[in-house]
Amino acid sequence: MHGLKVSVAEILGHPGNFRDISIDAELTQVGNALVHEADLPLRGRLRAEAVVEGVLVTGDVATMVDASCARCLREVNEEISLEVVELFVGEGHEVPDEDEVYEVEGFEIDLEPMLRDAVTLALPLNPLCRSDCKGLCAHCGKDLNEGPCSCRQEEIDPRWAALSELRDRLG
Ligand SMILES: [Zn+2]
Ligand SMILES: [Zn+2]
Repeated sequence: MHGLKVSVAEILGHPGNFRDISIDAELTQVGNALVHEADLPLRGRLRAEAVVEGVLVTGDVATMVDASCARCLREVNEEISLEVVELFVGEGHEVPDEDEVYEVEGFEIDLEPMLRDAVTLALPLNPLCRSDCKGLCAHCGKDLNEGPCSCRQEEIDPRWAALSELRDRLG
C-alpha cells in the first residue's frame, strides 16, 4: 500500500494548522459476506488538522464495490461514500479504552488502517440490485424478477386437495 502515509511534520504541535490530502489509492482485499473481497479504488479529500491531542483527520472518501444482491444474488455495483472523523493521537497523549486508536508515528500518520476500518464498516450488509427486487423462489431458486415460478401452484394444490378430501369425508 503506497500513498497513504502522510507527513504531518509541518503541522504537528501547531493546533489549528492543517494540510489537505487528496486520496487516490487502493485498499487491498476488503470485503464481507456479500461484497466480493477486492482491491477497492479509493478517492476523496481529507484534511489533517493539528489539535492539542495530535492530528484530527476529517473529510469524505468514496469507493465502488462489487456485491451480490442479497435477494437474487445478481451482481451489483454500489458506490460507498463515507465521512471520516478520526483522531490520530500524538506522542505523550493517552486515549484510554477505545477500540480503534490511531497514532501519529513520528512525523507521519498512516491513513491506511483507519480508512480500511471505515470502509469495512461502511460496506453494505444488504446490497440490492434494485429496491423492489423480488428475489429468488425459496423452493425452486427461480429469479422471480423474471416472472413467477410454478411453485406457488404446487404449494397451494395439496392444501386444496386436503380440504376437498375433508369436505368429501364430512359430506
Ligand atoms: Zn436482486
Ligand atoms: Zn419456485
